[in-house]
Amino acid sequence: MSDDATPTPKSPLNGLKLTLLAPLSGDEAPVSAAPVTNGSGKHVAARVVIVGSGPAGLTAAIYTARANLEPIVIGGVSGGGQLMITSDVENYPGFPDGIEGPELMGLFRKQAERFGARIVDADVNRVDLGSRPFRLWAAGVEYRAGAVIVATGAEALWLGLESETRLRGRGVSACATCDGFFFRDKQVAVAGGGDSALEEALFLTRFASKVHLIHRRDAFRGSKIMQARAAAHPRIELHLNRTIQEVLGTEHVEGVRLGKTDEPGEETLRLDGLFVAIGHRPNVAAFREWLETDERGYLRTDGATTASNIDGVFVAGDVDDHRYRQAVTAAGEGCRAAIDAERWLEVQEAHQAEAGAVTAR
Ligand code: NAP
Repeated sequence: MSDDATPTPKSPLNGLKLTLLAPLSGDEAPVSAAPVTNGSGKHVAARVVIVGSGPAGLTAAIYTARANLEPIVIGGVSGGGQLMITSDVENYPGFPDGIEGPELMGLFRKQAERFGARIVDADVNRVDLGSRPFRLWAAGVEYRAGAVIVATGAEALWLGLESETRLRGRGVSACATCDGFFFRDKQVAVAGGGDSALEEALFLTRFASKVHLIHRRDAFRGSKIMQARAAAHPRIELHLNRTIQEVLGTEHVEGVRLGKTDEPGEETLRLDGLFVAIGHRPNVAAFREWLETDERGYLRTDGATTASNIDGVFVAGDVDDHRYRQAVTAAGEGCRAAIDAERWLEVQEAHQAEAGAVTAR
């Protein structure tokens, strides 16, 4: 997601209903969107809280809302996940002519809200999953949940160069969809060798006069069809076995200094912009203390279902998937997590009802 100072395109969510729960303070009454509050009105209660509003989170919202679980989605300040920085999505079923990522996410959101999901545009910064109801905090509001679905996705990685950080928003970007427009008739480069890099390079040909695709190895990792398209494009030039040593420029990007991995020496490319597309890191910070991660830092599930190591907490989407990482697989996992949460809540609520009946006898 672009967090740079460069302007972003018109919001794809224009015209769609957004429900923002305001922070509660003291005796202030909760806003009307809050479904249940306790006596002091200091928390918002829900049977299911979904964290994340990418394809996984919003699909979980659609399914849990249609199961009458009245989910609250704490969707993140920027919301929508990685598809918000993806241009053409040609492989999401049902869209034979393709669809822009942000537009697709707008439709997901509209569908979830149609069935009553409440979407909060805030980041979860702390959770307590040690007892039930689970507790989560976002923008100063405490949420209590019978079940939680974690669908926080993964975020873009950077090369880690000082010059890259310094020039972010001044020609260095991780979002071609957001910033490509500013490079009309200019020379840009994309760093990376996966599908993201290939896709960004192809997208940038809509604006740039020349796109240099820089990859550190001699072979791309991305899909064959994208490789073939990039290689055949007249405005894309491939630079294999090249590593970016430095982004050149003081006020804005002027070029890159490249190291060679197949021969001695260095070379310089004159550029106006650099798009970094080298992969993603799972967003687990708020949950690390509670949920098990694998050796790459992605959340673990039990394998057969979306259950995490904590009973009542389910996981869906890119935050636990470093293998497939597709919008459609994330959406599928969101569906699975919703069904898992629904069944789990049903059992819990039946147990509670039984226990209540026994006490009443
Ligand atoms: P990825 O597949 O992990 O590729 C990351 C690329 O960046 C690799 O080529 C890697 O090089 C390179 N890289 C990593 N760290 C680097 C560094 N420090 N310096 C230079 N290069 C570095 O990530 P991705 O391209 O974001 O794709 C992630 C997943 O999403 C994949 O499964 C992909 O298929 C999917 N995806 C699909 C679409 C689509 O279908 N439309 C679009 C985007 C992404 P090495 O190859 O040498 O490791």
